[in-house]
Order: sequence, then structure tokens, then C-alpha cells
Amino acid sequence: MENSEERKTVISLRNASKWFPSRDLPNVRGLNSVSLDVLEGDVVVLLGPSGSGKSTLLRCLNLLNIPDEGQLRVGSVEWDAKAYFSARSRERRYNRDFQRLRRETGMVFQHFNLFPHMTVLENVMCGLVHSKGMSKDEAREIALEEIVKVGLADREGHYPGQLSGGQKQRVAIARAIATKPLAMLFDEPTSALDPELRGSVLAVMQDLAKEGMTMVVVTHEMGFARAVGNHIVFLESGEIIEEGLSNDFLDNPKTERAQRFLSEIA
Ligand code: ADP
Ligand code: MG
Repeated sequence: MENSEERKTVISLRNASKWFPSRDLPNVRGLNSVSLDVLEGDVVVLLGPSGSGKSTLLRCLNLLNIPDEGQLRVGSVEWDAKAYFSARSRERRYNRDFQRLRRETGMVFQHFNLFPHMTVLENVMCGLVHSKGMSKDEAREIALEEIVKVGLADREGHYPGQLSGGQKQRVAIARAIATKPLAMLFDEPTSALDPELRGSVLAVMQDLAKEGMTMVVVTHEMGFARAVGNHIVFLESGEIIEEGLSNDFLDNPKTERAQRFLSEIA
């Protein structure tokens, strides 16, 4: 997207670091002082080899992974690691902001995490009733709209076990967008699917992007990265080592590491 000066920053991560405890080695560094701005309507694609910190970075954006250091703002909700981990973190204010911040984004994982004993409609309604406190009627109306949007109008009464992987993933997307998040976070949403089922999920994601949804996507789908992504962030060893506009990065990567990565997956 052009005119970055005129667009709002939806997500701003500053100098985020994250270590993971390790039994026999020194702590593993998942993320090393990473900063990332995501503007309204952006589709940011996170690329990098396995273990480079893509999931850790994505999960830090909604505090599913809590950075040991750094600051995060999503919409108008701010969070600061220092304050969080200090004694003041026990103040209710920090807890409240923490929960609010999490609710500002919707997340879709590689595995769909649907409730197997609930229908498609109930899966999508569930969060609206329980976290957003909506009435069942209101939640049903919104859920049905989102189910139609992901192309599953005729499946609302089915159980997850009766759906293909691609359909399940589209239910997971409907469930996440029903909460009207400021941004959507996707962690390899098509990696667990058979190749012929990936297209329907990517098409739904492309529609969302066209509608202006702000998205951060970890994916190995280079066609999607080029066609739908507008900004690419390339990670290695928990650091951003190169970033740029999609076509610039994909056609003309500057670092040797990114060149090698792209030639290996091509
Ligand atoms: P990617 O998604 O790019 O494959 P990850 O973000 O999952 O990479 O992992 C980055 C690094 O952090 C890796 O070295 C990984 O082993 C480590 N890591 C990630 N999650 C955990 C965890 N829960 N416990 C211990 N180490 C982890
Ligand atoms: Mg990952």
C-alpha cells in the first residue's frame, strides 16, 4: 500500500526480545530486539528458515508469547515489558490492558483448534457469546455472515469431523474475524493442508486483504506473498535481517542469506 504517512499504525512492536528456557543449554533466544510497524491495510508476510523466530514474533504481537523486553501497542492499547514484569504488574491496570490487547487481534494457527463437539455455527458464535458477552441472537447473526463470507453457507450445522481441512481452516478464520479484530495474525495457515485444499483458504485470505483487513502472515506460499503481501519481513536467528516491499524483496533480495533462502524454496 502507498501513502504510509496517511495510514494509521495498527501494531507497533519496539525492541522486543524473548528467551526460552532450555534444560541443558543456555536459554534459547527466540527473538532479539525486533521492531515492527504494521500499518492499517498492510499485509505483512514473515519469511525465514525454520526456527528463525517467525512464530515467536507473530505470537508476541498478541502476547501469546510474552516478550521479556520491549513495548507493544495494538490500536490504542499499550503494553510494556518492564512495567509488566515489575512489581506494578500486579496492579489490575496491567492485567486489564493485557487482556484488552489480546482481544484486538484474531489469530489463525496451522491447526484449526475447533471444538469437535460444536457445529460450525456454534464454533463461530462461541467467542462472541463468551468473550464479547453478546446475546445468542446477535452472535448467531454475525456468525452466519462470517460463515457465508468464507464460503461455508451450506455447512453451518456440520461438525468439524465432517469437514475437510480447508473447510475447517475457513471456519477458524470466520471465528477469528467475527470478533472484528483490528488485525489478523496467521501462522502457516495452509501448511497442514493437502495442496489441493490450500487454494480455498488462500482465496479467503486474499478477499480479507482486499476488504482492507490488516494482516500479518507467516507462510511459505510465495505466490500469496507476492500477490497479496505488500511488505516482507525476513528473519534469521530471531532477528529481522532484511525487509522491504514484496516485489522488491522477492525479485531483488539484498542480503546473501535472503538470496539463498529464496533460491532454496523456489
Ligand atoms: P519459526 O516459527 O521461524 O520456525 P519459532 O519462532 O518457532 O521459529 O522458534 C524460534 C526459536 O525459539 C527456535 O530456536 C525455537 O526452538 C525456539 N522456541 C520457540 N518456541 C519455544 C518454546 N516454547 N520453548 C523453547 N524454545 C522455543
Ligand atoms: Mg513457526
